[in-house]
Amino acid sequence: GADRRWCFADQLGPHFLDSEDQPVLLIEARAVFGRRRFHRRKAHLVLSALRHRAAELGEQAIFLQTRTYQQALAEVPGTFSVCQPTSRVADDFVRKLPSVEVLPARGFATDRETFERWAQSQRGLLLEQFYRDARRRFDLLMDGKEPTGNRWNFDAENREPPPKSGRLDVTGPWLPDEDEIDERVRADLDQWERDGDASFVGRDGPREFAATRTEAQAALQHFLQHRLAQFGPTEDAMLAGDRWMSHSGLSAPMNLGLLDPLECAYAAEDAYRTGNAPLASVEGYIRQLIGWRDYIWHTYWHHGDEYRNRNALAAHRPLPQWFTDLDADAVQARCLKDVLARVRDHGWVHHIPRLMVLSNYALQRGWQPAAMTDWFHRSFVDGYDWVMVGNVVGMSQHADGGLIATKPYASGGAYINRMSDYCGDCRYKPTRRVGEDACPFTGGYWSFLARNQDRLKNNHRMRQPLAGLNRLADLDDVVAQQRELGDDAP
Ligand code: SF4
Repeated sequence: GADRRWCFADQLGPHFLDSEDQPVLLIEARAVFGRRRFHRRKAHLVLSALRHRAAELGEQAIFLQTRTYQQALAEVPGTFSVCQPTSRVADDFVRKLPSVEVLPARGFATDRETFERWAQSQRGLLLEQFYRDARRRFDLLMDGKEPTGNRWNFDAENREPPPKSGRLDVTGPWLPDEDEIDERVRADLDQWERDGDASFVGRDGPREFAATRTEAQAALQHFLQHRLAQFGPTEDAMLAGDRWMSHSGLSAPMNLGLLDPLECAYAAEDAYRTGNAPLASVEGYIRQLIGWRDYIWHTYWHHGDEYRNRNALAAHRPLPQWFTDLDADAVQARCLKDVLARVRDHGWVHHIPRLMVLSNYALQRGWQPAAMTDWFHRSFVDGYDWVMVGNVVGMSQHADGGLIATKPYASGGAYINRMSDYCGDCRYKPTRRVGEDACPFTGGYWSFLARNQDRLKNNHRMRQPLAGLNRLADLDDVVAQQRELGDDAP
């Protein structure tokens, strides 16, 4: 088409254009970084990706660096088309612009209409059903009408604890080399900070995620060849000595629009078909791409704007400053200290430390779900509003009352002990719920149940934990100790 395509900074891949030579508008609006405190690594990655795309397109793109989007748009009269932006705020903004035509979203496997049609045919919106429907529609890991291996789900194989040796025997992740664009981004971010135009959280350091299409493809190939085979079994495990485990590190470039989830899914299937990766790992990976990632995207729009403010467990405590400042030095609990330090130093940890350490702790303490959503969005290199609303409000904080997850993901130190090697050298003991060496996750777990007993009593999946709660002879002491700890760093 001859029309000009405006691409947001998370719409940077070739699939956001209708043809290779379509004229493009790119806008770098600095004010975004002045309004909220993003992780320095995230600001760097987004700007690096945007500027790399502008350099790659050369004359084909108009690249404007301004304070606000309005200022940029005032400089370019005429009409543009844009693929649906990924946040509600940006979506509202572009739909109010008379000179901009909004096209359906790209960068997801299932389109909005197909999801809504599927949703209407269902009683609940079960991820597993959506995922199976997508497997059939895309003919992914299917043998005729049957799922490959005669099973849809290999989760049971994909829940192994970490190896006792303390390290996973797998080739390290793909890492980029920085270039002069990264240097310029770093200098600009320093300058903006000095000028008071921006303020960041977290530590800077060499870029660790792909910022161009070429880099993203190299990272994908590296993952498929060297790491996918081992992805499945330990995808839920954590090691103090290995923050990557066998995770792909591709969520950041994918959420920048540099990779299409379907291309990754078909490539992963090929790895299985050619004997390079076992079915359980490939199924687990494809489930994340066309199942969970799409599901979170579609429920973001489906559940409406008020969904983000749901607070079914009446969690009203503000996030403490040690947490929002990523002050890992203030923390003694080894798991939380290590995970918070990784967020501070890298702006990324994989899904289990997010869910079972950071989010679990917030859930137990009754921290505000909306504040947690915002925190995850700002503090993670792959965090966006659409990513975090469902993952935090629904999945991890149970604030939607069970629309996305059927029970709260609260757990005590026993879970962390089973799935990591953190507890051995911790000053607390995962089995202790009261006293000097009581694990704050274990004490916090029982306190959480005690506080929410009434709200959870009709959830049949909570019957057993609540029965356990009522057998605790020392519950009053547990609750008193946790109340005293409160929101202080544990
Ligand atoms: Fe974390 Fe508790 Fe284990 Fe310490 S004992 S590492 S606080 S789970």
